[in-house]
Amino acid sequence: MQKMVILGATGSIGSSTLSVIESNPQAYGIYALVANTNVDKMVSLCEAHRPQVAHMVDSKAAVSLKERLPSELGIEVTTGEDQLLDIVSAACVDTVMAAIVGAAGLVPTLAAVKAGKRVLLANKESLVMSGRLFIEEMQRSGAKVLPVDSEHNAIFQALPESMQDNIGYCELEQAGVSHILLTGSGGPFLTSELDSLAAMTPDQACKHPNWSMGRKISVDSATMMNKGLEYIEARWLFNATDEQLKVVIHPQSVIHSMVQYLDGSVLAQMGNPDMRTPIAHCMAYPQRIHSGVEPLDFFKVGQLSFLEPDFNRFPCLALAMEACKQGQEATTVVNAANEISVQAFLDNRIKFTDIARVNEACLSQVAPQTLNSIEDILTLDLQSRRYAAEWVKKFN
Ligand code: NAD
Ligand code: MG
Repeated sequence: MQKMVILGATGSIGSSTLSVIESNPQAYGIYALVANTNVDKMVSLCEAHRPQVAHMVDSKAAVSLKERLPSELGIEVTTGEDQLLDIVSAACVDTVMAAIVGAAGLVPTLAAVKAGKRVLLANKESLVMSGRLFIEEMQRSGAKVLPVDSEHNAIFQALPESMQDNIGYCELEQAGVSHILLTGSGGPFLTSELDSLAAMTPDQACKHPNWSMGRKISVDSATMMNKGLEYIEARWLFNATDEQLKVVIHPQSVIHSMVQYLDGSVLAQMGNPDMRTPIAHCMAYPQRIHSGVEPLDFFKVGQLSFLEPDFNRFPCLALAMEACKQGQEATTVVNAANEISVQAFLDNRIKFTDIARVNEACLSQVAPQTLNSIEDILTLDLQSRRYAAEWVKKFN
């Protein structure tokens, strides 16, 4: 039985992970569930899944969870950064699902990597920020990192086994790969009038045509910053160059990404847009288990279509690709700026189209510097957040 920790247990990926565990109770046990503030959800998850430990990052939430959890469940409630690091590196833990949203996921995810765990990586922001340091830490500890993000999971599945065993250090050319084709639906505003975008509300932006996800990643899908972050994520996971990475808009979200080989072959991974498929793949790899997802019905799908991305409509995608070219300081800055601008949009403080303006203003200020440690990255992240907050005020 694999013992698991679920970081971000109360979120969308957390729920999908728990659903896959429910379908395979003999193979997976839960050591700890980790969340930020949502006590109501955590109480019901604890009652249903009986972890040994329930950790709330917010200390007040931990106090309230302790009061509300029936003591006969015998669940230990914890809070505090050190306690969280102890949880992910505990000797009894085999697998850590890294599904906290945003930069907050960096430290615990990296701790799981350092501890040599099997890390199922949903929290793309942590890799976007820490890039090379993350990959080096992975090699040092021997941690097995498996990509949960559906695109990266698809690419992983379409790569030869020798590349799957060498995440972060793939020699794509040697494997005969010419391109990685990162697909994206284009989100809810793919065909909206360009001059209507400024007035789009948070609820409209979060109404993804195919996927049901948390609000931050849903807004990122509407701006296509999500594809930009995934472009950077793919750069690190598959050791890919700019020339090897292409973004393809595929509105149906049936193909989750593709690998194009030198001989003209293209391998695609397909399925219904349900995160339980990549999650189950990562949990069981190299085996296969039931995920609870309906089999894909090609007669219902009918058509698959493809478009080139329009950078005029999706300036955030262009910004992230530019940041990827510039290097790790730029990707850290753009990620931090984007978290601030997206939150400001969700709080109705700026317009949808201001997200790209804030991000661009921050990216244009990046000074070349070398990031040698996680502390350097966290310092730059914090500075960039402050800077982005000033720009938010200007647009407010
Ligand atoms: P969500 O908003 O639904 O859930 C976020 C989780 O993170 C919650 O459990 C919350 O308690 C926790 N959290 C938030 N702030 C925290 C903090 N400061 N410290 C500790 N925990 C904190 O988000 P989601 O949609 O499940 O996405 C989670 C991650 O997975 C993101 O990085 C996202 O990009 C990635 N991802 C999500 C999907 C998807 O379909 N939802 C797909 C691919 C990748
Ligand atoms: Mg994705």
